Amino acid sequence: MSPAKGEKLIEVKGLEKHFKHVEVLRGINIDICKGDVVAVIGPSGSGKSTFLRCLNLLEEPTGGQIVFEGVDITSKETKIDQMRQKIGMVFQQFNLFTNMTVLDNVSAGPVLVKGMKKDEARKLAQSLLERVGLGDRGGAYPIQLSGGQQQRVAIARALAMQPDVMLFDEPTSALDPEMVHEVLDVIQQLAREGMTMVVVTHEMGFAREVANRVVFIDEGVIMEEAAPAEFFGSPKNPRLKDFLGKVL
Ligand code: ADP
Ligand code: MG
Repeated sequence: MSPAKGEKLIEVKGLEKHFKHVEVLRGINIDICKGDVVAVIGPSGSGKSTFLRCLNLLEEPTGGQIVFEGVDITSKETKIDQMRQKIGMVFQQFNLFTNMTVLDNVSAGPVLVKGMKKDEARKLAQSLLERVGLGDRGGAYPIQLSGGQQQRVAIARALAMQPDVMLFDEPTSALDPEMVHEVLDVIQQLAREGMTMVVVTHEMGFAREVANRVVFIDEGVIMEEAAPAEFFGSPKNPRLKDFLGKVL
């Protein structure tokens, strides 16, 4: 059963990730609760993507624990495929299936992974495309869409698995500036609907307005975490002050 709003959804305890000799994550601790929108910011190379990828075990942690809905997903006994279905992910590069229509991109996962009937999956996909403002583009191929539209399809595709949390890794970084808003608006709408989300972003306005918690990762640890007003209004860590000085 999914936890109720405000209950812990993901507990990250002392998470570490090394690649050979490189220590990328050096002990990340954070609890993510149902309904949280956590914005993650930090310099390039600080471990933000690695952190997100560890949350759904696209990267295998080398230390620490991730407890998802009460289940230790870092334990060898856990069936990760089942857990992963509950964790949607959207990447900077949209990663759509280029040889499939938009509707098929969105309906494929439920059919292949969840065994949903094709008709039902197509209905679900159509309703999700409508939700991201692309109800009339189901028959198109990804290459026929703009970057912003493709990213909205990628969001619909992730939602089709009916995840309990959505992870976004710089969802607007590959977009032309005029398309950033249409994607952020969709994410903001999800936030209003109560979706739990972790969003790595360089969009400080978005972090301030949409997130309820902002996290600064630097050198593989969380250096500061606060509600947006405090985070941006009175940052404490000198490295965060320096970072905000450069990006704001
Ligand atoms: P960010 O997303 O904050 O820019 P990343 O998590 O992508 O940072 O990367 C953090 C560090 O980990 C970087 O120094 C990067 O080179 C290193 N890294 C990431 N993935 C790998 C990998 N598969 N093998 C070796 N090093 C990696
Ligand atoms: Mg990254």
